[in-house]
Amino acid sequence: MKNVFIIGAGLAGLSASVHGIKKKFKINLFESSNLVGGRCRSFFEKKLNQEIDNGNHLVFSANENFYELCKIIGSVETIKVLPPNLQFYDLKKNLNWNLDLRQINITKLLLGKVNLIPETNLLDYFSFLKFIYVPYKKTVSDIVGQSKLFPTLWDPITLGVMNTSSHSASARVLSNVLKKTVFRGEKYCQIYQPKINWNNTIIKPCMDFLINKGCNINLKNRLKKIDVTDNFVSKLYFNDQEIIIHKKDLVILAIPPSNFSKFFHGCKVPEDYNSIINIHYKMPKKINKEFANEIVGLLNSYSQWLFIKKNYLSVTISNANYFNNIDSDEIANIIWKEICCYMKINSPIPDYQVVKEKKATVVQSPRNFELAKKLNHLPINLVISGDWTQSDLPSTIEGSILSGKRAIN
Ligand SMILES: Cc1cc2nc3c(=O)[nH]c(=O)nc-3n(C[C@H](O)[C@H](O)[C@H](O)COP(=O)(O)OP(=O)(O)OC[C@H]3O[C@@H](n4cnc5c(N)ncnc54)[C@H](O)[C@@H]3O)c2cc1C
Repeated sequence: MKNVFIIGAGLAGLSASVHGIKKKFKINLFESSNLVGGRCRSFFEKKLNQEIDNGNHLVFSANENFYELCKIIGSVETIKVLPPNLQFYDLKKNLNWNLDLRQINITKLLLGKVNLIPETNLLDYFSFLKFIYVPYKKTVSDIVGQSKLFPTLWDPITLGVMNTSSHSASARVLSNVLKKTVFRGEKYCQIYQPKINWNNTIIKPCMDFLINKGCNINLKNRLKKIDVTDNFVSKLYFNDQEIIIHKKDLVILAIPPSNFSKFFHGCKVPEDYNSIINIHYKMPKKINKEFANEIVGLLNSYSQWLFIKKNYLSVTISNANYFNNIDSDEIANIIWKEICCYMKINSPIPDYQVVKEKKATVVQSPRNFELAKKLNHLPINLVISGDWTQSDLPSTIEGSILSGKRAIN
């Protein structure tokens, strides 16, 4: 039986472990923290008196590797499907509109059956066609920066999907996302959300599956050093154990680039990250009844997306580096004022929790995707995995799950 050593129990490491079990490999999983899930984890939040996700994660129905993993671990029932009809509100202009991704197809465009975003006309929607072919070095703003849809559609969508400003984000990768979702039609652009939280949909079912199949799981085990002999990994050093690795074994490093570069100094990896900040506000029970949509996009504001949950309201701000060094209480107050403005209420700030993920993803620029593509000269029995290693997909749940599967295959 092939012995596989997987370092990192984020989604990439968990996916590699599950797919490795399917291939009947002997899986040994190591994680430095006492929690699994990495950047997609849930925790009990006292102020809200419930288990919440570190940040809101949105998945599209086109994300087939995500769905396949849920099928294997038996968690499909925990997913809810929302129509891709996004409500937007411009705080400065006091304008409301809906963007229904199902309407973005040639027939509906030609027939004029599209709810137009204010201050745009039908012709502006043909900017979608510019993504059919894009040279790899171009950024999103190079392609559609002049479009009238830029401030109300391209910019917020790019931030939401790639956690990177349109001025730096790779247009080729956004084009790949559009080709897998909107361009393929309604079936592929539904929105998946967990009925409870991501721990309930992915992390716990993955762990139950792995424990059940006899996977050797080692939490609080940080990889500290790797020995390489004759271009093969020969030994792994953890904080409390050392493991001899044979040439026929496989080592999968499913860790972020900043950790990876500590082991392979010569490799050039992405070094710039963008943060994502989520502010979770406790709200009256059944707050969701007051909203037509569970997800609302806000424009001309710091807040970008509101996720309306059962008992709390959660605000996501991507590419939020400007808030990294600002006090959490100050951020919560600024954002609460915006929510009051959107909800047209004047209410004191409720209990809240601010979660800053300073290294939420690497900057998803053409240069960083190119660096990931060029990573080679690694030991023969070592494969790298993780959202940042995919050169065709953004750093997402789908990208990390696919990277784990690819590493095993
Ligand atoms: C706030 C936020 C919102 C997001 N929103 C979305 C979204 O809406 N949709 C979407 O698809 N994606 C979203 N993402 C991105 C998604 O969460 C990530 O792409 C994915 O979780 C990355 O998984 P990973 O396994 O590649 O890396 P990680 O989750 O970083 O996992 C790496 C693991 O390796 C461990 N580790 C590191 N070094 C060592 C070591 N030396 N030894 C042992 N273990 C080690 C770490 O502790 C960690 O558990 C979001 C991310 C954040 C932070």
